[in-house]
Amino acid sequence: MNVDRTIKLKLEMSDEGKENLKQTVVLFNQVFNEVAEYGFNNHTHSKVSIHHATYKDIREQHPELPSSLVQGARDVACEALKGVKLKTCPESQPYSAIRYNKRVVTIHMQYNSATIASIHGRVNISFNIPEYYKQYLGWEIRSSTLRYDRRQDVFYLHVTLRTESPKPVGNTILGIDRGIVNVAVCSNNVFFNTSSIKNTRAKYAYLRKELQSKGTKSAKRLLKKISRKERRFVTDVNHCIAKDIVNMPFDVIALEDLTSIRVQKRKGKNFNRKLNNWSFYQLEQFIRYKAEAVAKQVVSVDPRYSSQKCSKCGHIYKGNRDGSSYRCRNCGFQIHADLNAARNIAQAGISCLSRLTVNQPNVGLKVPLDAT
Ligand SMILES: [Zn+2]
Repeated sequence: MNVDRTIKLKLEMSDEGKENLKQTVVLFNQVFNEVAEYGFNNHTHSKVSIHHATYKDIREQHPELPSSLVQGARDVACEALKGVKLKTCPESQPYSAIRYNKRVVTIHMQYNSATIASIHGRVNISFNIPEYYKQYLGWEIRSSTLRYDRRQDVFYLHVTLRTESPKPVGNTILGIDRGIVNVAVCSNNVFFNTSSIKNTRAKYAYLRKELQSKGTKSAKRLLKKISRKERRFVTDVNHCIAKDIVNMPFDVIALEDLTSIRVQKRKGKNFNRKLNNWSFYQLEQFIRYKAEAVAKQVVSVDPRYSSQKCSKCGHIYKGNRDGSSYRCRNCGFQIHADLNAARNIAQAGISCLSRLTVNQPNVGLKVPLDAT
């Protein structure tokens, strides 16, 4: 199995160099639009016929754009036309990111430099590779995209790298199911819910209920104090769980995307209260920080069907799950329901991996740190 990663390199260059690349980007996008318009008007996305019809004219009109970039713009335009099935005419903005294929960019990762085609010939650019990316030095370079950030006035090169997965997939991805009864269940059969967590949570829940029903001033004061203590307890436990999870021998950790977990699992007031009392957002943040420190990946996966689907045969049926037990009506597989979910999350993580970009570790997590 191949593993692809996209890394983002900030380019360092003079104002003159920037101006050159800016003009290159604008011209590339202009050519893209011209080619796309031709294809749209003539109802074709064939690279060959579009090439024959447009190449000569474009070279004459824009002699400064290297032929390799003209071809690059044509290829991207043809793919865009194909992508919209010729129903609309694809259009680039002047500063849309442009794709550099292997012919027009040479990247020397080990020397922190690259040469790329521009309207003034091939130019050298340099960048710093963050420590975290050094693990990718030996990977094969697949493609790259030049992106201009107008707000910062900075160019970025997004480079997609590929390697063959060094280990069997089952060993590399750990799926985590977070839930009400068990704080976290891992696809390698580890459950995080010791009796002490359970007892402490029950104790706080009981105290809260008692104090809330009293409603006196001192009860309210005590309630505040207890809430603080409970939050500290949750934070401590989250730290421990995150540490244990990150230390497990897996390269990638797959979690459900929490922004949709709430909607999916909404089952009445009581259910929500219980869910909200545990800060799953905080646990996720801790896992992400600790994972990043040891260069492990964290991916967010779509939580749909993770609790209904059979992790063995893939059969999806709501009635397969009954509380904490899961029994597949299709293949007869029986397993703890949370463990089944964790394994589904691990499997979803595998398909997610190929689309992953590691430079955005917090993508998908738009919720404040402390949601309790
Ligand atoms: Zn099954």
